[in-house]
This record gives sequence, structure tokens and C-alpha cells, in this order.
Amino acid sequence: MGLLQKVDPEIFELIQRETDRQEYQLEMIASENLASPAVMEAEGSPLMNKYAEGYPAARYYGGCEFVDNVEGLAIERLKLLFGADYANVQPHSGTQANMAVFFAILNPGDTILSMNLSHGGHLSHGAPINFSGKLYKIVHYGVSKETETLDYDEILKIALIEKPKLIIAGASAYPRTIDFEAFYHIAQAVRAYLMVDMAHIAGLVAAGIHPSPVPFADFVTSTTHKTLRGPRGGFILCKERYGKLIDKIVFPGIQGGPHMNIIAAKAVCFKEALEDEFKSYQQQVVKNAQTLARVFQQRGFRVVSGGTDNHLVLVDVSSKGLTGAEAEKLLEEAGITVNKNAIPFDPLPPKITSGIRIGTPAITTRGLKEKEVEEVAEWMCEILKNPEKETLRREIRSKIKDLCIRFPFYRR
Ligand code: PLP
Repeated sequence: MGLLQKVDPEIFELIQRETDRQEYQLEMIASENLASPAVMEAEGSPLMNKYAEGYPAARYYGGCEFVDNVEGLAIERLKLLFGADYANVQPHSGTQANMAVFFAILNPGDTILSMNLSHGGHLSHGAPINFSGKLYKIVHYGVSKETETLDYDEILKIALIEKPKLIIAGASAYPRTIDFEAFYHIAQAVRAYLMVDMAHIAGLVAAGIHPSPVPFADFVTSTTHKTLRGPRGGFILCKERYGKLIDKIVFPGIQGGPHMNIIAAKAVCFKEALEDEFKSYQQQVVKNAQTLARVFQQRGFRVVSGGTDNHLVLVDVSSKGLTGAEAEKLLEEAGITVNKNAIPFDPLPPKITSGIRIGTPAITTRGLKEKEVEEVAEWMCEILKNPEKETLRREIRSKIKDLCIRFPFYRR
């Protein structure tokens, strides 16, 4: 019997059940992944006990010699991975990375131009219920109604009228390549700062599959746990001239002690991302997403923007008489986890929606390729076209379990 089981059987049991859920169901939430055992080992290490307020060689606590090296390695690997001048690896989350950039360059009431949440943007880019929406004046750009993709001429027009101090590029539910150079020219035209939040696509950028925002943006923020496949957390990249300012805002401005275990896990993730295998993994992530989009289209579903260039697919389920909430529930009953998601110009509220967002990072980590993804996509379409058939969902649930046994993750 393990120690946790003895000390706290209730938590032990819940961890077991969640581990089984992850092992025997298909995780297709676009913002999730399965971090490697090495990343998890670093995260669960004694480094979690160490307070280290400050930065390497400039701490407010003694005993930091080894964690200094850990943070130094994380910073160096991250700079190398993205070709960045300066990196801060301490943000506890993507939202805190964004907050640090806002606090570094904006005053309350300043104008931010960012992507509409209902068109794929993120809460921390100015949603009224988020601190960003409360502190700053937010103006949004969205996608074009015809193409459901970003219209850079239109974004320039809005920027010229609104004169934002900060423009944010980056999204949570945008299936197409983002033209960061176009954003750079827009920001230059109105003398705005440009921040790119690459949380969703960081792994693709690291592998050279999505163009990098680093040459074009003043600040690049990200999470480490999505396509990048690391621990939950965030980071900031910036031009050298902003480095000290960003450091000061992260600590002591908005955070206390860094989580050294997480920073060690980030360092492991960056090392893994620098390896050749990571590039073929990311290529497979995109191939799998494109396979998924193709099957849904062949089966008569409308795929937002007509396909995908990255790790996610947005499917409009309304043409099949379903809401996003209903579709999410039907798939979950069959052992496939996705999330309901607004589609551009969605007439339904965010808790219901007309769409689902499907992502391939986690299933690709466990080894699924086009052949298996095609089969899974066929099952998903069958389920969504036959919501009344409970037995069908049960049959598919058992096929999903068999597939998960063939492609194990924790039990390999
Ligand atoms: N930025 C984008 C584009 C995201 O999609 C997300 C999370 O989904 C975040 C930031 C926030 O990350 P966190 O949940 O770590 O605060």
C-alpha cells in the first residue's frame, strides 16, 4: 500500500479514479495534454518545499543554490527554444503572465484592442467579468462573417479609430494560422505595443510548424500545459529592454514566491520540446486535427472556417439540431471529452453554444495517428447524428476503452 493511500484514502481514491478517467477515455479538450512522467516527477519533487522569492542570485531566502540553477536552466532553455532575448518563467498561469504585461505598460483606463471572446479570444484579454475588462477600456476585433478568419484590413481600421495602447493577438479557439507580421504592422501604424498570447499554439511554434511571434511582438505570453505539453503554468518572453520591468512586475508586483517544482517541470518540458521527436509529435497533432475536420465535413457537419491549420477544430453542431452543451454531454457518455464552445456570431449564450471545440494534443501524445483518428471521428459523427441511440453510445464507449488500452499512457 502506498503512503498516500494510508494517509488519505479519500484523496487517493479520487486520484485513482481521475487517472483511470484519463487512461480509459479520450481527452480531446484542445487546451489539455498529457505531460510526460519526467515532467510530473519534477513537479512532484522536494523542490515544492523551497521558498525562493526573487530571481537567481538575487533571492530573499537562503538555501537557493540549487533552485537558482534550476531556474537558470529553465530560462536558458526557453530562450533557446523560441529564440527570445529575455524570459521570465515564474508566472503561475497564463492569466498571470498576461496580467504582468498589462501592469508593466498600461494604466487603468488605457485602451486594449483584442479578439472578441465569442470569436475565439480569451477571458484575460478583456472580458467584462475578468480583471482585464474591469481595469481597461476594451475594444475588440473579430473574424469576418464570410470566411470566419481574421481580416487584417478590418483590424487596422479599428486600430486607427480606437488608437489602443496595446494590441493583443492570440486566441483560445481559432483554428487558423495567425499572421503576426500583419499584427506588427498594425501596431506600428498606431504606435501600440504588441503582445502575442501564444498559449494554445506554443508547441506548434516551438516545433516551427506555426510562424513565431517572437520577432514581431514586444511581449509574448504563454501557458506551458497546452500544446507545449508541460506542467500547468505560464511564462513571458520579451525584448531585452523590457526584461527588468517584467521581472519587477511578476515579483514583487503580482506574485510572491515562485513555485520551484513547477519551474523545474517547465525546464524538463523545454528540454523535451528541443528534441527532434517533439517536431514530429507536433506535425502529427496537426495531421490528426486535419483528419478530424475532413471526416466531420464528409459526414455533413459545418466546420468553422472550413478546416484547421493547427491543433483544434471548431464544429458547428446546430445544423444537426444540437447545441454545443448537448453535443458535449453525448460525447462524454461515450468516453470522449470535448468542450462546448461558441462559434463566431453564435446566437446562443456561452453556457449553451452552437459548437464544440475538439483538440488533438492529448490523443496524439498517446500515439493515435490518422487511421485511429479517422475511426474516432466517424464514431463522434455517428453519436451526434443519432442522439436518441443510447445503446450506440454504450457500444462506442467500449470501443473507445479498447482503443485506450491499445494506446496506453499511464499504464505503458
Ligand atoms: N491565454 C489563452 C489564449 C488561453 O487559451 C488560456 C487558457 O485557456 C490562458 C491564456 C489562460 O491560462 P491559465 O488558465 O493558465 O490562466
